[in-house]
Amino acid sequence: MDPPRWFYRHEHEWVALVERLKLTPCPHCRVVGALIRHGSLTAFDDSSPRRKTVRARRLFCSNRHRRPGCGRTVSVWIADKVRRLSMTTRTLGTFLQRAVSGGIAAAIRATPCPRSDRTWQRIWQRFDRAQSRLRTALWERGPPPEGPPGPSRRPAAAQVLAHLRATFPDVDCPLAAFQQATRSFVL
Ligand SMILES: [Zn+2]
Repeated sequence: MDPPRWFYRHEHEWVALVERLKLTPCPHCRVVGALIRHGSLTAFDDSSPRRKTVRARRLFCSNRHRRPGCGRTVSVWIADKVRRLSMTTRTLGTFLQRAVSGGIAAAIRATPCPRSDRTWQRIWQRFDRAQSRLRTALWERGPPPEGPPGPSRRPAAAQVLAHLRATFPDVDCPLAAFQQATRSFVL
């Protein structure tokens, strides 16, 4: 089981988190009051192909100057980013939805985010491996919608995506909402 991840969606949530830092225990050592800001994690992704975009903010559990921390860092991820994946959750969700309804080859052709076929295949495999974990996390929030999720070449995967949409119905990106709500990466 992965440790809980930290996510935020909007800038004001990050600001509020920073304001509470002095009262927040470090997720590694549980010491309160040692976390300080420690820069950001940037990379290219499809939200900003020409310029690096911020993917996560970093915190440092300070052990310098006699601070009581453990010296480890914590990443606070923006909810629409996925570790080891250079695309947003929105692009990922679009690709997965197309893959379950029309097949992976058609989904690759239709997704406006140039990646090699092998990369897309690997992304699909990551999703495939994550399915049972996703299903378990979603069931904790409620049952899947009734009835089959529509015609699909991959009914089990289609069911997971339908369950995701039903669990987070009024958001622009259910994958990002899932990450923030369950404090875990979707892949
Ligand atoms: Zn610590």
